[in-house]
Amino acid sequence: MNSIDEKLQPVLAEVIRRNAGEPEFHQAVHEVLESLGRVVAKHPHYLEQALIERICEPERQIIFRIPWTDDQGQVQINRGFRVQFNSALGPYKGGMRFHPSVNVGIIKFLGFEQTFKNALTGMPIGGGKGGSDFDPKGRSDAEIMRFCQSLMTELHRHLGEQTDVPAGDIGVGGREIGYMFGQYKRLNNRFEAGVFTGKALAYGGSRARTEATGYGNTYFVDSMLKTRGTNFDGKTVVVSGSGNVAIYSIEKVQSFGGKVIACSDSSGYIVDENGIDLALLKEIKTVRRERISEYARRRGNGVHFIASDKGSIWDVPCDVAMPSATQNELSGKDARVLVKNGVIAVGEGANMPSTPEAVKVFRDASVLFAPGKAANAGGVATSALEMQQNASRDSWTFEQTEARLAAIMRSIHDTCHETADEYGAPGDYVLGANIAGFVRVAEAMRMLGVI
Ligand code: GLU
Repeated sequence: MNSIDEKLQPVLAEVIRRNAGEPEFHQAVHEVLESLGRVVAKHPHYLEQALIERICEPERQIIFRIPWTDDQGQVQINRGFRVQFNSALGPYKGGMRFHPSVNVGIIKFLGFEQTFKNALTGMPIGGGKGGSDFDPKGRSDAEIMRFCQSLMTELHRHLGEQTDVPAGDIGVGGREIGYMFGQYKRLNNRFEAGVFTGKALAYGGSRARTEATGYGNTYFVDSMLKTRGTNFDGKTVVVSGSGNVAIYSIEKVQSFGGKVIACSDSSGYIVDENGIDLALLKEIKTVRRERISEYARRRGNGVHFIASDKGSIWDVPCDVAMPSATQNELSGKDARVLVKNGVIAVGEGANMPSTPEAVKVFRDASVLFAPGKAANAGGVATSALEMQQNASRDSWTFEQTEARLAAIMRSIHDTCHETADEYGAPGDYVLGANIAGFVRVAEAMRMLGVI
């Protein structure tokens, strides 16, 4: 494994000590600190005023009870979280995740990543993240609404368009955002459009926000491919997941001439050698909310479904891999298989989907590797565009919004690429993203004093 500069080792030791039992948070901090050795060697002033220690400590962490009544009249209890990580660049900004695996360590890792991701967008947004261990699977519309209302009854007092602006993430889409925004509006007696992003168009949402994360990752990978004189045309692509990020990655890859042959959900993956029928996938996943095996059943001839205990989607040979499901979904072993099968580029649509061992395998093999905090920043960047439209009471066309998104993604790509060059590691997007994100947050924090 890559080592951490000895001046930064005490920072990691302290993070591990005071955040015991939070391995994902340790992993995210470890990866950033690994990249910072070259920065502090060049600019030792970043070691002053406990700046790096402060960046690793959330400004505020809120944990609360969410009681709600299910359709059978039983009272259920979940736990809610909001980690307001860093507001040096703007109001806390980041999604809400509803998934049974959610705990404070997961939300902290996501909030930490979000801080640097948001900085990379160049937009005026700080970093935060929230969510609950609530499992939306199999819940009725009415249950989802009651849950969202109960959550917001507590969380509303901590939010505000200049304070903290949530959005969606795993398990939270337009429906949930509508219920949360509705309850916020009711409790505050204010139509404060900019307090949430990912809203529907009908009440202040932005065009292209739904598509933005997947489209953005595709633009980023396209920029990486161009540095090697190639593009998506004729490439075989595997996209894990089948949520919002995966679906719109598939859509954009297809429009760029790539052929996506596999995608997945938590039950397993499907392989469709003729190229995924996106209309069918959208219907199954977004309208009917069914399992991915239904795709194989409906499509018929030659489409295979492989259950998750029978194999990994990364066994499917491809030129480009776009992990877009969840953290640590792509192991070191998966990465070795991908490299053996000739993968040339990896773009992380999810947050931290590759394990540290997998990242090392890709970097050692000189695979073009785009870390999530750069590659999937298109979602939150378009959220910032949504805030901009809300602030000016304006609504842009799809073309205008997508053009802004495309320009932001190209700029993030170029920033990471140039920063890697500047710090003596050409082509290392992990280093480029971590350093460029860190420097933006750190510079603002220095100017704001010890707060
Ligand atoms: N959850 C998304 C992310 O991981 C979007 C956050 C947002 O739009 O605020 O970046």
